[in-house]
Amino acid sequence: MCSGRIDLEFVLRAFSNGMDGVFIGGCRLNECNYITHGNYHALNMVLLCRRIMEHIGLNPERLRIEFMSSAEGNLFAELMSEFGKKVKELGPLGLAEGIDRNELKLKLAEMTKLVPYIKLVKSEKLASRLMNPEEYDKLFTKNEVDRLISEVVSYYVDPEKCQACMTCAKRCPVEAVISAKNQIHVIDQEKCIKCGTCFEVCPPRFAAVTKIVGKPVPPPIPEEKRTIVRKSKEN
Ligand code: SF4
Ligand code: SF4
Repeated sequence: MCSGRIDLEFVLRAFSNGMDGVFIGGCRLNECNYITHGNYHALNMVLLCRRIMEHIGLNPERLRIEFMSSAEGNLFAELMSEFGKKVKELGPLGLAEGIDRNELKLKLAEMTKLVPYIKLVKSEKLASRLMNPEEYDKLFTKNEVDRLISEVVSYYVDPEKCQACMTCAKRCPVEAVISAKNQIHVIDQEKCIKCGTCFEVCPPRFAAVTKIVGKPVPPPIPEEKRTIVRKSKEN
């Protein structure tokens, strides 16, 4: 019902499903029925998504947002036919940009996986209320988004330091920490949304969670080597 409900992930999914263009229609800015003003969120999300599209080599004009009231049927029809023509001109998604279909799917899947992280890091800007269209281009710059994606943060449990206190596993919001009593903990990188909670809550005397920026995460310690043998039990 509200354009503010349209998540960045929905747009990436539409492109991943082969849509050549995505059009989002929202209520006029400042005429939202709710105190949330979700149409500003939708606008900011579109501005961010366009930069992500540029990053992966897609033409950002394939994504468009317009604001109108429900009484403006003519305007809606006009905008839709204009956008339809534009998308036809742009040609088939990926092919027109010279990106192989499978490669594009992989790139979109990679970006979709980063959505929670991107939203977390850019939460402040995503909550902006831009009053002037001249500000749109400056909200997210190409360099900023390119850097955000190339310097993406990951978290890793150092098996030499983990004492299996289980704090990180209890606090992880998405159950991404593989945890068991007396077992070195491991972060499931597929599930991890990079919120950094484990890094913050790991007791400083252990400091077992490492923050990795823009580099690959070391492979997880093999299952058979995860048991911690306490010194007192050895004797
Ligand atoms: S960074 Fe967040 S999501 Fe990832 S393992 Fe740590 S607590 Fe869980
Ligand atoms: S909080 Fe630190 S020491 Fe405790 S289980 Fe997690 S990584 Fe290991």
